[in-house]
Amino acid sequence: MRAGETAIGHTARLLGGAFVTLLGCATTPTHGAGPAPTAPVPRSVRFVYLVSADRPVRQDFIDAIANAAQHVQRFYARELGGPTFGLNRPVVEVARSDKPATWFYAHDSGSHKDQWGFDNGLSEAKRLVGAGYNQEFIWVIYSDGPGNSGRGGGRIAVMPEDDLLGLVGQHPTQKDPRRWVYGLSHELGHALGLAHPDDNDQVPDAVMGAGFYACFARARPACTSGLCDACELTEADRATLRASPFIREAGAVRRPATWTRLYRVAPGTR
Ligand SMILES: [Zn+2]
Repeated sequence: MRAGETAIGHTARLLGGAFVTLLGCATTPTHGAGPAPTAPVPRSVRFVYLVSADRPVRQDFIDAIANAAQHVQRFYARELGGPTFGLNRPVVEVARSDKPATWFYAHDSGSHKDQWGFDNGLSEAKRLVGAGYNQEFIWVIYSDGPGNSGRGGGRIAVMPEDDLLGLVGQHPTQKDPRRWVYGLSHELGHALGLAHPDDNDQVPDAVMGAGFYACFARARPACTSGLCDACELTEADRATLRASPFIREAGAVRRPATWTRLYRVAPGTR
């Protein structure tokens, strides 16, 4: 678990729909960018790469987000015996913010400082691409604003620059990109309603516990192809996901025809 993200994960679990509704009402009036130019895939997980005004668009970040999204999609399919979440087409939506990078985790959005990054990233993604609390999509927002604490809950996850650097092997201390891929699986799990396990010691490889820090470096016994790491969802996680409207049969998941179709830049934000 990362510092600071526990509260929203657990708040979303404890309060459920009430939490989502409350925040949705609070942020709805700022809706501004309008619908995407092409219809997004219904009930998909939409990945947004928020590019600060003083940062370049990094193609390696776009590629890394898309790869991580598809890896986690496969991981969920493995753990659920086929069903998984759907991805939007393109997988990664790029949105150019007019805010500097430091704004995202330093702008005062309220009394809970450890939630500023989440609030600011969400408010920008809402303004630029219409992200928000609703019944239509799960949103995963990667910001290049300097920060070290990803957060997920209530159908939203917001990830800081640390995670982008981690996905491309440039994090200062945690060099294995898989740690950041499974960090995504953890925060996306919160966005889908998963909670932390009651006892981490009982499930050391559970990605919703502390497992995402190291489970990828261990192998599943007798696994010879596909994803053979030891990372896992608990039975409680699986039960929650099977009841989620965002989890669908694998046959309904359409893979993009080519990598070049994975990306687009939101209109007016380039
Ligand atoms: Zn967590």
